[in-house]
Amino acid sequence: MSLTPTQLLLRCFLMSLLAYCIRQSTIRISARSIAKVDCAPTASRAMHIQSIPMWEGTGNNYAYLVTDDKSKESVIIDPANPPEVLPVLKEKIASSAIKLSKIINTHHHHDHAGGNSEILKHYKLPIIGGKDCTQVSETPAHKSQFTIGESIKVTALHTPCHTQDSICFYFEDGTDRAVFTGDTLFIGGCGRFFEGNATEMHKALNEVLAALPDDTKVYPGHEYTKGNVRFAKKVLDNEAIRKLDEYSQANKETQGKFTIGDEKQHNVFMRVNDPDIQKLVGKGEPVEVMKMLREMKDRS
Ligand SMILES: [Zn+2]
Repeated sequence: MSLTPTQLLLRCFLMSLLAYCIRQSTIRISARSIAKVDCAPTASRAMHIQSIPMWEGTGNNYAYLVTDDKSKESVIIDPANPPEVLPVLKEKIASSAIKLSKIINTHHHHDHAGGNSEILKHYKLPIIGGKDCTQVSETPAHKSQFTIGESIKVTALHTPCHTQDSICFYFEDGTDRAVFTGDTLFIGGCGRFFEGNATEMHKALNEVLAALPDDTKVYPGHEYTKGNVRFAKKVLDNEAIRKLDEYSQANKETQGKFTIGDEKQHNVFMRVNDPDIQKLVGKGEPVEVMKMLREMKDRS
């Protein structure tokens, strides 16, 4: 069948229109796909925390390697047992995964600052810590700040009691918050009052650390949670303590899994205003309650 010139023109026009429509819809689909990729949320987390367990089964200490993921600048906190910490540092430095810039110590005790001299034989680093820490180069003032890499801001918080040179280090990277508490605050407990008193521990826990945002994750110097829960259960029965009990029975490590907000619920040393605890110890004044709780824990 032969087409008239008008029919031929109409057919050409319809085919062009069809081709145009297909092209436009393809472009629209592509544009949508690209837009979807462009709108994908970007990760804002920059702070990476690696726990290094030391003397497992005896001291149950933790050293922590904290890295700014963007610049790779890193600090090592309380690297007290070099045979367990140096292999980790050596491997990461050799593979350019980290650029180690500082040692940080939470207090002078040997199982926290006792590795400094040996670490310094391998790496020339400044030591930031309490005044009595071995070979300390700088003791930051209370609430003074420094940065690690591009995004981690560190605030030194003086918390004298366990030792007079105890400092907790509060790390922020904008969206992520962590506090390294040494032997001042444990998950569900607190350190012994070796160089201080109940007034100082009450201030350290219930004024200085309690003032941090509730979503701040707690990284203590030891894994003592099981023993702390055993004591807490003798003093108080609440839902938070039952949950901590369950978690510590099922998990060997509890560091970084609980926050300052959690501690206010399950840590009896941060509940000195709890009427049930006050009734049990027979005291109503917070410092007196703190003193009684510590004496009971030391005897338990
Ligand atoms: Zn200590």
